[in-house]
Amino acid sequence: MVKNKAIILDRDGTLIEDKNYAYKVEDFEILPGVIEGLNQLKELFLFFIVTNQSGIGKGYYSVEDFHNFNNHLLNTLDKNNIKIEKTYFCPHLAEDHCECKKPKPKFIQLIAKEHNINLKESWVIGDHPSDILFGLNGGYKTVYLRTGHGEKHIEELEQKSIKPDIITDHFLKASQSILKKI
Ligand SMILES: [Mg+2]
Ligand SMILES: [Zn+2]
Repeated sequence: MVKNKAIILDRDGTLIEDKNYAYKVEDFEILPGVIEGLNQLKELFLFFIVTNQSGIGKGYYSVEDFHNFNNHLLNTLDKNNIKIEKTYFCPHLAEDHCECKKPKPKFIQLIAKEHNINLKESWVIGDHPSDILFGLNGGYKTVYLRTGHGEKHIEELEQKSIKPDIITDHFLKASQSILKKI
């Protein structure tokens, strides 16, 4: 069966500990419940990562550094039989006014087109209000995680009337909630 449902994953604060512009493998730390949660979801969904990496635009690390670090994550997931179809990253600064920085929906639209994704049955999981806006802009359902930056920004959801389908504090609870809603 060809899968046509996607889960678009934010990276920092969602899959791994957000250590502020991390790019060194020694700073890599996967968050609890991520491996188990993705394993529960993988029969039904294709996985993608979409991540804003303004650290590249700020000159904190290079595109190559980004890939080295990201490949470490992909390899770790792969060892646990979890496949990420593709990683999309925005290297720009806000003042660059690019088209690819979340919450702009460029990557979500690209993924939908390249993989013939059924939007209404697909999800974005992230730890920042901009991840939720990104999902809503693309027509996806959304999970807001209180990990990473999530706790710090939670009031913004209400202030800006941003309504995730699920709000939770643990990746495994997120995956269980998604499975209950399908
Ligand atoms: Mg994040
Ligand atoms: Zn960009």
